[in-house]
Parts: sequence; structure tokens; C-alpha cells
Amino acid sequence: TSYGFRSVAPGEKQGLVNDVFHKVADRYDLMNDLMSAGMHRVWKDAMVTWLNPPKRGDWRSLDVAGGTGDIAFRIVEASDRNAHVTVLDINGSMLGVGRERAEKRRIAENVDFVEANAEELPFADDTFDAYTIAFGIRNVPRIDVALSEAARVLKPGGRFLCLEFSEVEMPLLDRVYDAWSFNAIPRIGQMVAGDGEPYRYLVESIRKFPNQRDFAAMMTAAGLSRATWRNYSGGIAALHSAWKI
Ligand code: SAM
Repeated sequence: TSYGFRSVAPGEKQGLVNDVFHKVADRYDLMNDLMSAGMHRVWKDAMVTWLNPPKRGDWRSLDVAGGTGDIAFRIVEASDRNAHVTVLDINGSMLGVGRERAEKRRIAENVDFVEANAEELPFADDTFDAYTIAFGIRNVPRIDVALSEAARVLKPGGRFLCLEFSEVEMPLLDRVYDAWSFNAIPRIGQMVAGDGEPYRYLVESIRKFPNQRDFAAMMTAAGLSRATWRNYSGGIAALHSAWKI
């Protein structure tokens, strides 16, 4: 690209992503706050508000690329501790931090942790009432495969929600955002995690990710119905929704 990134072959991608999250797992939550200036909290709250998990009845949700548990904990709390959430991540270090956090919040009973790949979910068809993925899908090498897996493990009538960085649709904001991403984010990575290079790769992965409309089309192609989205912060993040019918 014009930003001087080296290009990453698809086969190499998962390894790079894994290195990043192994390195930063214990500082991941702090990094999120610094790099998004706290905005990720607002977007995640909005995601769980849209999901609106029920406060009674048996209800099971799967949070893929769930990392340190941010989405899962919000779902459990929003449901008055009724929901059961499985946090799935390919990275054991991130899940380890998540497990500790769940115990501290005393919600370990409502959450379980599974180390697996979004492209190969170790669950039977029609298992979950909801599937969530936040800032995870752009790290997955084969997005279409991950989306088909989502459709497979959802129950008929189940809900799919994906929060991800997207295309900024505000004229001035896009310039500010570029400056932030290409200068500040790798520098924060350098200061807090001791290495800016992996963050350069993550910023690049945001640029390569399909825009709102194209991602909605991929969801439909994977067999999910009624794909729509909402933009947050001018499109810095977008929340996509769909259903398994
Ligand atoms: N969802 C959490 C949040 O919003 O704070 C974590 C997001 S973090 C930016 C991305 C996560 O995706 C990492 O924990 C990483 O290990 C995970 N990940 C990357 N590739 C994956 C894959 N193929 N399958 C499952 N998880 C994956």
C-alpha cells in the first residue's frame, strides 16, 4: 500500500496475529483504552444493548475472538446474570486473562472459555441463541469460512452481531483518524508493549477490511439473513446484525 507496509501472505497472517496477542495479553485492556481513547467501551455497550439478552430462560451465547471477555461480561451483566456465554479465542494467553477477570467479577459460573479457531468451531449445528464477535473477524484469515461457521452453530432464529472497525464516512474525521492510526497507534504499541511493528500490521488489517456494505454482502453470502448495520463515531466502528432463519 502507499503507507509502506510490507504485504502479508494469507498463510502467514494467523501466525502474526497470534504473536501480537500473545505479547500483549496482560496489557491488552489498557492498550484498548489508550488506542481507542476509551471509545471501545461505548461501542461495546451499544453492541450489548442492541443484543438485549433476556433476563430469564435458558439462553446461550457464543463470543468468538472473545479475548479477555469484554463482550461476554457485558452480556452476563445485561441479562442480570441469566445468560450463559462461551468465550472462544485462538489464543490461550488472552483467555487466561479473561478467566482471571471473570473470577474477580464473580461471574465465572456464567462463562466458559474455549481455545479454538473461528474457522472451525467445535460445536454442533444449531447450538447458540446468539453469536457475537468484536474486533475479531478482521484478524481471521478466511472471513467467509468464519461467517459460515457462525451460521452453522446458531439456532434457527438466532442472532448474529459483529462489531468491527469500518470505513470512516465523515470527510474531516477520516484525515484525523488516519493520522491517529498511522502515527499514534504504533507509538502507543511501542511504549506500552515495547513493539510498534505488530500494531502497524493491525492498523493495516483495518484498512484492508471490507467496508460496511461489502461486509453485509459477505454475511448474506454465508447464509445469514436480514443483514443491516449501524455506524459508530462516523464509521470508525460499525455494528453488523443478521439472523439465522
Ligand atoms: N473481542 C475482544 C475485545 O473486543 O476486546 C478481543 C478482540 S482482539 C482485538 C482480537 C482477538 O481475536 C484476539 O484475542 C485474537 O487472539 C483473536 N483471534 C485472532 N484470530 C482468531 C481466530 N482465527 N479464531 C479465533 N480467535 C482469533
